[in-house]
Amino acid sequence: MNEVGLRYYCYRCGRKNELQLPCPRAPEFHHSELRCTHCGDETRVMLSQCPNPDCNGSFVYWINDLSIPGLVENFAKYMTTNMQSLIDRAAKEGVRISIDTVDKFTIPAACPCGNKFNIEIPIPDLD
Ligand SMILES: [Zn+2]
Ligand SMILES: [Zn+2]
Repeated sequence: MNEVGLRYYCYRCGRKNELQLPCPRAPEFHHSELRCTHCGDETRVMLSQCPNPDCNGSFVYWINDLSIPGLVENFAKYMTTNMQSLIDRAAKEGVRISIDTVDKFTIPAACPCGNKFNIEIPIPDLD
């Protein structure tokens, strides 16, 4: 798998961190925890490489204290719980509803090369 050099400035102390991280090609992504080498502040990063074969290896990334894949998973649980109560209520009233469950969550991204692509986070099967 490709590795990329990521340089970021810590949100807490403002100092520079330089890392080498694995970076799969979109729609795959890499998610990992970061720890500032100066103050120890922890954050998370999600990154993915532009799939355009003519691109010079650019990548996109999101730095956030929250785990984006974790958010998707929690949201999926919330959705499933709420859909289930909706389905139960509809069943009591003699209504049949069918719901297409998506199996991935898509995040649109744009590369400096002009290419637009998606990152896909698999949604766990929560049956
Ligand atoms: Zn720091
Ligand atoms: Zn690109």
